[in-house]
Amino acid sequence: MAVVPLQTKHTLRRITNNIPTSYRPSLLRLRFTCSVTTTTKSRPTRENLVIVNPPLSRDTALQSTWSHRLWVSAGCTTVFVSFAKSITGGFGSNLWLEPALAGFAGYILADLGSGAYHWATDNYGDKSTPLVGTHVQDSLDHHECPWTITERQFANNLHFMARGTTLMVLPLDLAFDDHVFHGFVSTFAFCVLFCQQFHVWAHGTKSELPPLVVALQDIGLIVSRERHVEHHRAPYNKNYCVVSGVWNKVLDESKFFEALEMVVYLKLGVKPRSWTNPNSEWREETEISKC
Ligand SMILES: [Zn+2]
Ligand SMILES: [Zn+2]
Repeated sequence: MAVVPLQTKHTLRRITNNIPTSYRPSLLRLRFTCSVTTTTKSRPTRENLVIVNPPLSRDTALQSTWSHRLWVSAGCTTVFVSFAKSITGGFGSNLWLEPALAGFAGYILADLGSGAYHWATDNYGDKSTPLVGTHVQDSLDHHECPWTITERQFANNLHFMARGTTLMVLPLDLAFDDHVFHGFVSTFAFCVLFCQQFHVWAHGTKSELPPLVVALQDIGLIVSRERHVEHHRAPYNKNYCVVSGVWNKVLDESKFFEALEMVVYLKLGVKPRSWTNPNSEWREETEISKC
């Protein structure tokens, strides 16, 4: 039997270059792929050996801290207070249509807002950017290894948006009592707070997701895997919205973000990352490659 060649798909240098910095310590321990090809004169055979390290859920960078949980709790509380003001105002005035329409507007505009924010953090800034640097780095990491978002714990994934939601909604809770206004604020803020969870679910498989989540995705109330998958495929400049994804079609067909990128480039001379920096193709956990 003639044995050979032993072939690794990536050299060690290549692997380390592509691992997000925040994940490197644990990823470096073992995650790699290699294939061994064996041949005999009479009957060639091929075996693929895949060695995978322990689940990334043990990676501390993906785990929730008490600080994360407190911010998520604070965000949920401010949203709940806003929602309660809208409901109690409805009972007091017996006017329900206006706050319901305001809530619907909040839901629709939150999807647009998620797309604009996602586009900005995907394309501009870095980890040193004031206020959003951490999230910019998280976005870059997500595009290096998309599937790892499913390994992030709940509060770890939501705490950044929870901070923004808390700081935005708390003053509004204290300053305003108008129930129509709070119909808009509570729905908008709820969608902003949970958009990263919707994003996580868009990376899940139907067989693993709760049936209610699958039903919400199927009727289009939250972004589905089918809608989000195109965001991680060439040319990497589409489907930025991650609440319902309802704005993606109109934004992509009108080339809204591409036009905005051209304006930014002409005015400031800054190129978006989507012009120069191809991201990873959509990969599943089982398709171990450069993650
Ligand atoms: Zn992205
Ligand atoms: Zn994604």
